[in-house]
Amino acid sequence: AAEAAARVSATVGTAADDWDRAGRIPDDVVRPLAEAGLLCPDVPAGFGGPGLTMAELGEFTAHVGALCSSLRSLMTSQGMVAWAVRKLGDQAQQEQYLRRLATGATAAVAFSEAGAGSDLSAMGTTITADGDRVEVTGTKVWVTGSAYADLVLVFGRYGAGGAAVLVPTDAPGVTVTRVADPLGCRAAGHSEVRLDGVVLPAGHLLGGAGMPLEWLVTSVLTYGRLSVAWGCVGMLRACASAAARHAATREQFGKPLAEHQLVGRHLAELHVAEQAATRLCEHAARLWDGGSPDHVVAAVSAKHFAATQAVAGASSAVQVLASAGAVDGHVVARAYRDAKLMEIIEGSSEISQLLLARHSVARWT
Ligand code: FAD
Repeated sequence: AAEAAARVSATVGTAADDWDRAGRIPDDVVRPLAEAGLLCPDVPAGFGGPGLTMAELGEFTAHVGALCSSLRSLMTSQGMVAWAVRKLGDQAQQEQYLRRLATGATAAVAFSEAGAGSDLSAMGTTITADGDRVEVTGTKVWVTGSAYADLVLVFGRYGAGGAAVLVPTDAPGVTVTRVADPLGCRAAGHSEVRLDGVVLPAGHLLGGAGMPLEWLVTSVLTYGRLSVAWGCVGMLRACASAAARHAATREQFGKPLAEHQLVGRHLAELHVAEQAATRLCEHAARLWDGGSPDHVVAAVSAKHFAATQAVAGASSAVQVLASAGAVDGHVVARAYRDAKLMEIIEGSSEISQLLLARHSVARWT
């Protein structure tokens, strides 16, 4: 994990703000990271991946999140696809797709539609199987990383249940159109993915077809939630570091900002937020690695807490930096925009609260 982190540090350097402004991470950055397996480094060594545990993956994800949330978003998406293949793929699919994902192919995951955001049961995309072929029709929105992706994992209706199918973006009938000017994570390649009667060999359909959609998506979303939570930890670290360094050196009223108590309070709250979010993420990762079913709720808690703290922490960091941080191209300004999106994705803050409220009632009554 340390080697992987050093490699990403060297690759990103100081380029994250340029990528953010350009709205794209260069292909000669993304592709070599994919070839090294670093977009889904938990893929087991048996399939050619680095084989990190969830705990190791978490610290790596936080490291990437501190450097560049767009790149971390690509990792989250790719990791979700690889995890779906591990959970739902048969042996041949695992052998084929995990190996590809760990050695250069790029991937994105598509649940959302114009009419199905928080409520994924409203999905209208259809997946039908007929002998040795499978057909997909529908339009997915806001698919992170799809502007870079070789494959999109598309969830849809399959008879009375759901299914997931791996769609190559160069298949006839696939159109990928970038979201213009997103608020944050501007280089994460969010796009609309249109699927007009896309016909593929049946081997693209993952196992579990026909099971309730909720069963199929929960495990993949749990992976995504934990990844986003660690990404938020990274943002909190970047903000805490930038705020502390600035407050220690900039003087007003004859002393460093950090010695003004109201500024110091921002630094203290950032410190606690980063520490607490880290502990919740570590706890969820440990439960995941230990195979405990409690990892599902722990991941929702970690994501909800880390995302709301990242929003508050980025706001505090901009406040401490003030005019020095209030410019496009500053790490805290970027975090301020990126963090807000973390309260929307992989289950918004409200959806997380609903899930946690339900858990609380089950636990305490
Ligand atoms: P809506 O569902 O319309 O919700 C609007 C507001 O109402 C939200 O605040 C929500 O919390 C609240 N709300 C909705 N229902 C309830 C309720 N029952 N109780 C209380 N409040 C409620 N999708 C993908 O499939 N793949 C991706 O890779 C992907 N990446 C994304 C990246 C970004 C940056 C963003 C912004 C979105 C991405 N999405 C992706 C879509 C994302 O999953 C949805 O935006 C999210 O599920 C919310 O759906 P919505 O935007 O339609 O909001």
